[in-house]
Amino acid sequence: MRKKQFKAESKRLLDLMINSIYTHQEIFLREIISNASDAMDKLAYTALTDDKVGINREDFAITLTRGDGVLTVSDNGIGMSREEMEENLGTIAKSGSLGFKQAMDKTEDIDIIGQFGVGFYAAFMVAGSVTVISRKYGEDTAWKWVSDGADGYTIEEAERAYPGTDIIMTLKPDTEEEKFSRFLEEYEIRNLVKKYSDYIRYPIRMLVTKSRMKEGTQDKPEYEEYFEIETLNSMVPLWHRNKKDVTEEEYVRFYQEKFFDFAKPLGTIHFSTEGTVSYKALLYIPGKAPYDFYTKDYKPGLQLYSSGVMIMENCEDLLPEQFRFVRGVVDSQDLSLNISREMLQHNRQLTVIAKNIEKKIKAYLKSMLTDEREKYEQFYAAFSRQLKYGTVADYGAHKESTQDLLLFRSHKENKLITFQEYVDNMAQGQEKIYYVPGENAERAGKLPQVQTLTQKGYDVLLFTDEVDEFVPQTLMTYAEKSFCNASSEDLGLQTEEEKKLLEEQSEKLKGLLDFMKETLGAGIKEVRLGANLGAAPVCMTPASGMSFEMEKYFKRMNPDMPIPSERILELNPEHDAIKALQIATAQDPEKAKDYAKILCCQAQLLADLPLDDPAEYTALVCKLMK
Ligand code: ADP
Ligand code: MG
Repeated sequence: MRKKQFKAESKRLLDLMINSIYTHQEIFLREIISNASDAMDKLAYTALTDDKVGINREDFAITLTRGDGVLTVSDNGIGMSREEMEENLGTIAKSGSLGFKQAMDKTEDIDIIGQFGVGFYAAFMVAGSVTVISRKYGEDTAWKWVSDGADGYTIEEAERAYPGTDIIMTLKPDTEEEKFSRFLEEYEIRNLVKKYSDYIRYPIRMLVTKSRMKEGTQDKPEYEEYFEIETLNSMVPLWHRNKKDVTEEEYVRFYQEKFFDFAKPLGTIHFSTEGTVSYKALLYIPGKAPYDFYTKDYKPGLQLYSSGVMIMENCEDLLPEQFRFVRGVVDSQDLSLNISREMLQHNRQLTVIAKNIEKKIKAYLKSMLTDEREKYEQFYAAFSRQLKYGTVADYGAHKESTQDLLLFRSHKENKLITFQEYVDNMAQGQEKIYYVPGENAERAGKLPQVQTLTQKGYDVLLFTDEVDEFVPQTLMTYAEKSFCNASSEDLGLQTEEEKKLLEEQSEKLKGLLDFMKETLGAGIKEVRLGANLGAAPVCMTPASGMSFEMEKYFKRMNPDMPIPSERILELNPEHDAIKALQIATAQDPEKAKDYAKILCCQAQLLADLPLDDPAEYTALVCKLMK
């Protein structure tokens, strides 16, 4: 028989499939099954207007048969005529694989295969030869199409008892690297069907081996194997079911199986939307961050389905950065199976869905925060950083959806509170939202400035996470209140009169201030009197706009980076130590120098900064004790 050649444009894709080094060869089954499902959809559709079809929806089925090295997928769908076989199986331009081929022309990235409906040719990834026997509905003759890929194909007449199609795949021989025969194993097929085609709306059946107790062996049980036809897919996706018909346990089991988490999810969001774009979504808030969550290895995204067929395992475009911890599935009949990543990015429906999903997640977390605080705090312990990163990312483009979800430790209340709660409880006359960065809450709470604010009855938020300080810098204001970093900025507490008084005092103590500046040298840019020191004698603040914690952070990120580390030393004129220093400058300038150095070190310690020379400091203090 004369072999016919594939159309030129099919060649390349076909070669790619035959020589595939793609690791997800397993998707061939998804493709073949979804074609079968499409064919049955078509016949079911015909049946609506043609009562001669004589087949009911529930009679449709896909059958998987395992033979010696051969896997067959059969359906009783619409079938193909001879011309259609020629058209559909010989030409890529006709098939849905077109999008894939176009993308392949632009890139050599084999990994994009999984993002497409690669279509019928996917069979050649695992099969050396493929035979298609098909009988078109309404015709008596069946046709047999045979191809071993590269050399083209043949078509001849064949027999088939009823309309439908068999895709007969002779698997490639096993090699050292590849075990193609695994696609005949019951266990493997079950898994693949579960993974990719569980929600195909027709039953996918296969003869499976089971085991049972032999009759009459109750006393001394003996077992025997038997065969049974089993439907491998569950057909109705959980997310297609009515919320009220799904039990909590089913939600949890689905989550754990699908997303490989042993822990229970903290929250489940199940909804469906009809409108410009119709879709269903089932989303989960995990209870803890996966070990690789904050690394590049973590793959965020939602699983994307089109009418029950999975088209993308991790669709990142569906999840905004700040909510990348959410897991789940989205299913829209408005999306086609043959959609590529690039196409998806510019897909208007997808953008609408993503916007919607962002709102849903925000609302869900907000209600958890209000109604189930303890649970929310558990969630927050796992993912607070992500919410904060999301808040500061893209210059705060997403802040609307996250700023109300953030919690920080309140110094006054000693618990986590929101910005809103902070603002609601502001003291009379308080203008700003105060925060201090620090290694941990305890140390941050001991800063002199915090003491000053506490005395006034003002609360202070303790920032202990590296990213925390970026949050007020991004938000600028919250509820029209500006933020103030109490450790490095003016607290803005002084009245005009108090300011004037301080100026006068500074004038009086100018000699002392100059003396200290001279004694302490280059590292200290300025020595001045401070108004916010509370009970502390001294206090160190940064001369640049960058807070000390931020300085430390950047140093850690890049040790070679030159960080402006000039500092301002503030003195508390009311403190006895400063008075003693004042006296010493007149009576014993050598001693006064020691005092100055000690006070400077103390300011550094209070600000949680490392000492430049701890040995010198120790020696100075010991000298005092003599
Ligand atoms: P797509 O499914 O996106 O159209 P495929 O490469 O998967 O692309 O299939 C090509 C064409 O072959 C299908 O459009 C369909 O017309 C035909 N076809 C494939 N499998 C079957 C089948 N089991 N029954 C009927 N037609 C089929
Ligand atoms: Mg297809």
